[in-house]
Amino acid sequence: MANQPMLKFVTVGRDMPEKRDAEARARDFQEIYAEYAEQKAEEQAGRCSQCGVPYCQSHCPLHNNIPDWLKLTAEGRLEEAYEVSQATNTFPEICGRICPQDRLCEGNCVIEQSGHGTVTIGAVEKYITDTAWEKGWVKPASPAQERPESVGIIGAGPGGLAAADMLRRAGVQVTVYDRYDRAGGLLTYGIPGFKLEKEVVVRRNTQLEEGGVTFRLNCEVGTDISFDQIREEHDAVIIATGVYKSRDLPGPGAGADGIVRAIDFLTASNRAVNFGDNVAEFASGELNAHGKRVVVIGGGDTAMDCVRTSIRQGAESVKCLYRRDRQNMPGSQREVANAEEEGVQFEWLTAPKGFKGDPVNAVVVQKMRLGQPDATGRQSPEIIEGSDYDEPADLVIKALGFEPEELPKLWGVDGLEVTRWGTVKAEFGSGATSLPGVYAVGDIVRGASLVVWAIRDGRDCASAVLEQLNGAAASVAAE
Ligand code: FAD
Ligand code: SF4
Ligand code: SF4
Repeated sequence: MANQPMLKFVTVGRDMPEKRDAEARARDFQEIYAEYAEQKAEEQAGRCSQCGVPYCQSHCPLHNNIPDWLKLTAEGRLEEAYEVSQATNTFPEICGRICPQDRLCEGNCVIEQSGHGTVTIGAVEKYITDTAWEKGWVKPASPAQERPESVGIIGAGPGGLAAADMLRRAGVQVTVYDRYDRAGGLLTYGIPGFKLEKEVVVRRNTQLEEGGVTFRLNCEVGTDISFDQIREEHDAVIIATGVYKSRDLPGPGAGADGIVRAIDFLTASNRAVNFGDNVAEFASGELNAHGKRVVVIGGGDTAMDCVRTSIRQGAESVKCLYRRDRQNMPGSQREVANAEEEGVQFEWLTAPKGFKGDPVNAVVVQKMRLGQPDATGRQSPEIIEGSDYDEPADLVIKALGFEPEELPKLWGVDGLEVTRWGTVKAEFGSGATSLPGVYAVGDIVRGASLVVWAIRDGRDCASAVLEQLNGAAASVAAE
């Protein structure tokens, strides 16, 4: 029992990797958590009680074999831990960094439920795969046999790339089309570097290319190439275009200069700060918070990324308006705590009524209270009449969520069925759409969701596409 590496949760407390001091981290765009030292990772992995029915695993969208890779880590068998971890997850080091673990694996860990503090699953997952990269265990695709079939994937975000990786490893010829100049989707241009350093994404993109995936970047489907052309060129097509139409703000003055969309603000920052691109709107100050009084409107993860980016750009002040209270916000509590430490002020139970000035100089704010629960059980916010006040602002960032673009109209394609929300209708588990040989994965199917779900969809879809290709190959052979 003395050498038992597991079940240490009674004697060893939960310990995350060291978090950088708030003042220091608010001055740069580097990740805020350091890496575990080897001994620390082993010790923390050893806190797992090796549940017979692991709730952590059932609440991980990829059903990662968490207890097994924790045990292997605790025993110092890291290469085997990596093999187990990568068997179910295409990008474990990315999920380890940015999954909302408190709502997924860690939030359902039994030792958390028993009051001992969850096993730090995400941090260990990141440690395993970062180490695997360091040691050269992460290898590009090198299929035993090349296949003649080709698959076209529209969108180089995590959904498209997860499918590309699996198909390429099976020997399929894969071309990924993306309208941006770099692959990665929101991993590259949405999520800021302090959550996910860009090098982590770039090395994955490079490795996919080394493994034989062809990227056609700066290629917008519907403009530079038609959807029909892509269908003609490939045996199967996967749509993985994400959702980018920003929800808008109503109210007088909403069209004034200085009121910008979250995605434009974050993309400009990622390009200019992380990649050193020349971004005119960043240089001119239009999409730059430096020296400004910033008001961000919204309570989700995008809003959290905007407030924390504004702090790092040197804003004079940063406030976040959200119409419900802290307990009822959609964003991760961990991110709110990080934002507060870095100097963000939250104005709970507030909503914008209008805007003053052009360029904007103030948000007219109305106070809210929570009323009766609606059909979903969530309390609806109600306006407190006569409570309006002016909140001074030089830059207002709208972070109210995203909706899908109308793909059938945009691409002039008949027969591609969409839901009443505009997302592409796709079969659960395969991603098959209403068009033969056309599949869809990730946010364009689910609506704005999570990286880990996009990876899951991409992997499931790749299996379905392989089945389709194998079926077609078998019938040709039988003829
Ligand atoms: P995307 O990542 O959006 O990729 C779609 C790709 O398709 C893009 O590269 C786009 O250029 C391309 N494309 C679109 N239309 C065309 C076209 N017509 N022709 C060619 N290419 C096209 N999730 C988390 O799990 N954790 C987080 O911390 C987190 N933070 C987030 C922060 C922000 C600011 C945002 C906006 C989202 C965040 N998410 C987070 C959500 C997550 O990023 C998405 O759920 C995920 O990226 C969806 O993957 P996807 O592959 O479906 O689409
Ligand atoms: Fe947890 Fe995400 Fe890793 Fe699954 S992929 S174990 S949910 S961090
Ligand atoms: Fe280990 Fe927690 Fe998962 Fe149980 S639920 S197997 S203790 S990580």
